[in-house]
Amino acid sequence: MIDLRSDTVTTPTEGMLQAMMSAKVGDDVFGEDPTVNRFEKKMANLFGMEAGLFVPSGTMSNQLCLNVLTSTGDEVIIDELGHVFNYETGAAAHLSSVQLRPLNGKNGKLSRELIEPAIRPKNDWDPHTRVIALENTTNKGGGDFYSIEELIEISNLADEHGLFVHLDGARIWNAMAASGIEPEFFGSIADTISICFSKGLGAPVGSMMLASGEMIKKARRMRKMLGGGMRQVGLLAAAAEYGVEHHWPLLESDHQNAKRFSEAVSRNSEFTIDKTSVHTNIVLFDVVNASVKQVLDTFESKGIRMVQFGAKTIRATFHFQITDENVEELTSITESITFD
Ligand SMILES: *Cc1c(COP(=O)(O)O)cnc(C)c1O
Repeated sequence: MIDLRSDTVTTPTEGMLQAMMSAKVGDDVFGEDPTVNRFEKKMANLFGMEAGLFVPSGTMSNQLCLNVLTSTGDEVIIDELGHVFNYETGAAAHLSSVQLRPLNGKNGKLSRELIEPAIRPKNDWDPHTRVIALENTTNKGGGDFYSIEELIEISNLADEHGLFVHLDGARIWNAMAASGIEPEFFGSIADTISICFSKGLGAPVGSMMLASGEMIKKARRMRKMLGGGMRQVGLLAAAAEYGVEHHWPLLESDHQNAKRFSEAVSRNSEFTIDKTSVHTNIVLFDVVNASVKQVLDTFESKGIRMVQFGAKTIRATFHFQITDENVEELTSITESITFD
């Protein structure tokens, strides 16, 4: 099966399992797991942040970040394609009593021009604009990433207005592979960062919140409240660390495979695609005459899985367990497939 439904479908490699089995562990609720403690410090240092908190999912990580940045009645500016807005069960309203202000950006990306007019005046009756929430790379936005200049503009705007910047970096690894931006730069423009190890890096479980020491202290308590305090979780941190060391360098090849696939899509008149929209490991394309279901079913019958991502849109996501042979097979099927 060539499974392109997501980059979350990878399974642990032999090397990753070895790393897990040899990890030194302790009770992390007591703060005594040496692997977790070391890994949290290592990631914080990598991104130039004070501290880290290992958590089960990117959703928990994003929600902890918003929780420590906001108070009741605050507003969070976000792109309308953002994961926090679309795929987190409306959690910010429930857990942090804040409202989200979705803006119509480009490929899931916000800009200074778009954000500035949305910042509210400080009247008694206005929600307090508190956070600018960015996503990099963008998921629903098709894997696009920010340039250094775009991020500096947004960060300057946040400073001018006393706003926090949150960065949902579930696929920050892909953003770094594609843009060449160094990790510590992101620490310099964001107050909180969420990074995931279970997407392109291939860990079975695990994300991390990065922030100031004070914020992490507060988030640690909230994590416990959400049932996210885990015991000998160094087993999972070891898998995540293995992913950072061994699978991060493989992402560029995922990006090349995504490009190759998009070429094949463009050669079949059953589909339309904007090839310039392929920035990293995510490919979005539209069906022309057939229904999305028909297309997905036909691909499935040939051993290829993708997902629906809109009324006429399909998403294919590349990851390191898609081999060169898989890409050969995939592109030749994609070029010639028909639907009747
Ligand atoms: C996957 C993802 C998350 C977190 O997802 P979990 O399934 O909760 O780990 C957050 N943001 C983006 C952009 C994502 O793609």
